[in-house]
Amino acid sequence: MGLLALGTALDWPEAKKRAQQVREWGILQLLEIWNKAKGKERDALLWGDEVEYLVVLYEKEGSKVLLSLRQAEILDALACDAELAKKGGCTAEGQDAELKQTQSKPVPVFHPEFGRFMLEATPGKPWGIGFKELLGVEPDMKLRRRIAKEHMLPTEYPITLTTFPRIGSPGQFTFPEYPVSGPRLRSQFVPDEIANPHIRFPTLAANIRSRRGRKVQVNVPVFHDKNTPKPWKDPTVDFDLHQWPEDDDVRNGAAPDDHIHMDAMAFGMGSCCLQITFQAKNITEGRQMYDQLSPLGPIMLALTAATPVYKGFLANTDVRWNQISNSVDCRTPEELGEKPLKNDRWRIPKSRYASNSTYIAEDARLRPEYLDPDLVFDPEIKQTLMDGGMDDLLATHFAHLFIRDPIVIFAEDLLELDLKKTDHFENIQSTNWQHMRFKPPPADNSIGWRVEFRSMEIQITDFENAAFSVFMVLVTRAILSFDLNFYVPIKRVDENMERAHALDGVLREKFFFRKNPFPARPSRANTVFGDDSRPGSAMPSRPASPGLVEDEYEEMTVNEIINGSMDGEFPGLVPIVESYLDSVNVDVETRCELATYLDLISKRASGELDTTARWMRNFIAAHPNYKQDSVVDEKITHDLVGAAIAIGERENEGRNFAGLGIPGLPKLLGKFRGGCGGGDENGATPDVDGSPAE
Ligand code: ADP
Ligand code: MG
Ligand code: MG
Ligand code: MG
Ligand code: MG
Ligand code: MG
Repeated sequence: MGLLALGTALDWPEAKKRAQQVREWGILQLLEIWNKAKGKERDALLWGDEVEYLVVLYEKEGSKVLLSLRQAEILDALACDAELAKKGGCTAEGQDAELKQTQSKPVPVFHPEFGRFMLEATPGKPWGIGFKELLGVEPDMKLRRRIAKEHMLPTEYPITLTTFPRIGSPGQFTFPEYPVSGPRLRSQFVPDEIANPHIRFPTLAANIRSRRGRKVQVNVPVFHDKNTPKPWKDPTVDFDLHQWPEDDDVRNGAAPDDHIHMDAMAFGMGSCCLQITFQAKNITEGRQMYDQLSPLGPIMLALTAATPVYKGFLANTDVRWNQISNSVDCRTPEELGEKPLKNDRWRIPKSRYASNSTYIAEDARLRPEYLDPDLVFDPEIKQTLMDGGMDDLLATHFAHLFIRDPIVIFAEDLLELDLKKTDHFENIQSTNWQHMRFKPPPADNSIGWRVEFRSMEIQITDFENAAFSVFMVLVTRAILSFDLNFYVPIKRVDENMERAHALDGVLREKFFFRKNPFPARPSRANTVFGDDSRPGSAMPSRPASPGLVEDEYEEMTVNEIINGSMDGEFPGLVPIVESYLDSVNVDVETRCELATYLDLISKRASGELDTTARWMRNFIAAHPNYKQDSVVDEKITHDLVGAAIAIGERENEGRNFAGLGIPGLPKLLGKFRGGCGGGDENGATPDVDGSPAE
């Protein structure tokens, strides 16, 4: 992990002075790798998932659950065992049994994350193209969860809730407990020790705050229940704190009525998600995947909704996205448009964590109207890239990412430019947290061009996480196999991202989506990407398809997008995946297992099954401690986390949920695994069809 190399991290005013150097060197490194890798061909269609966990301290009998800040110790224990396993076996007793068994297979990889209460796990090596491998995902995710648990204290558990419901609430919520209002975050709700102590992370948080000139403002509309006062004032905000200059923020309006107010990066970057990275066979295919998956980002965000609670209160939104966006929004008042431009170069419409703003494919179907005419990019950087041979579209994409300052700069890295590295490029690239990421090969060019799909929320069970991962893999295969066209204007993707936040948005919202994904491809000779593609002219010179862009798409529900529209115009992503599976050779058993995943996706979209967010809302509403006042207290949180733990454990033991006494599970999970050949069923499930798709 290059990013974790030790060094002297520059504080903000110093880092700002060196920003241009990092950008310039980063662009030279990008050109170096681009020139080396642009002609790469026939890379395998590999892919990999990333699952993030919260680590909690929980006892069934207690009435309080805490975040455990032992990330470093847990990762050390995992690394030690992984090392020993590689060498041929651990001799230390106890914790290594699982790793020993996996010696023949690659050992899952665990990574640190921003929150000191978080872990990330990826498969030991990326998944291949085989359909059988898709069935390995769920067992591997379960293995990761078991291995993580085995390296924790008996009362510590890895759970896959997106956010800890009471992070930042009054009273103790971490172990160990630390006082709030530290010099780095200056948060009145969370201590500095909430962040991974590696210098990179507190510096990231502190420099974002310094660059902004005030603390980040994460305000989530509160859910107004029957007994929730109106207007509602966040009772946890202290308006009389006078420790740091930033304590004035709330006196200057940072905490508006009817919003849950949060003031630190940990509230956003402390959230867990599910990400999928695909390797393309070459750069052209990678660019195509990037574009075609972009419009799916908001749809999958709404469908995986799992974030209804913040800082002990029910929110009026269901997903994490905007909260993370606000939690790392480093824009200055000038960039935000609050003050006239004087010291900064541009007004910037979005946070560096946001939906992506460009399309990049060399695709005749990419009409100029789909692009954002107001896209902000650095013209000099674009010129440098084009002088280096990059085409207009891709140069625009990177010149857009490079409007940002690097936030964390290590002094040692600025002594000499090393073109055999990509550290300066990655510095900017990896802190542009967009919902899609186009990943060039690493400096050694050892792997191919990759595209990362980043919008999905993590789910409680590995069954669900595998289902959403496998679904996205199958959708991607169908996109490539059928040459599907999901283009809508990129600004519509932005709007969809906002809509995806709505409470029960999966059922209540409509999203701009292309009506016909199977248009005839115009002759390539009609466009600059035809035979004589010239650098310098990015757009097709004539419209790639006739007719008004506005007629190409309409507003659809998630159900219509996933299962097909009533009038039959849009076929639906699940039916598309099914016809893809029909077109390839999949054995009956594999097909049946895949059908249980597609069934979950389909029923979440139709409302026959609940989203995680809906299940959590129902769980909270039914809890005896809940007073219809939007307050999620310690006991409710304890029991909710306890439910997540119990579900995870039962799942990992391969048992059903009968007797757990957790309400709402049949409506959350439906037919739960084992639908193929009489396995285990969710204890209280009504008979749900799990038969293989015909
Ligand atoms: P990041 O945090 O930067 O997104 P990670 O290394 O945590 O990256 O995870 C990236 C994912 O990509 C992992 O699931 C990994 O298995 C997968 N992966 C690694 N190499 C490849 C490859 N060549 N092609 C596709 N996926 C890959
Ligand atoms: Mg990762
Ligand atoms: Mg990462
Ligand atoms: Mg991560
Ligand atoms: Mg990732
Ligand atoms: Mg079925």
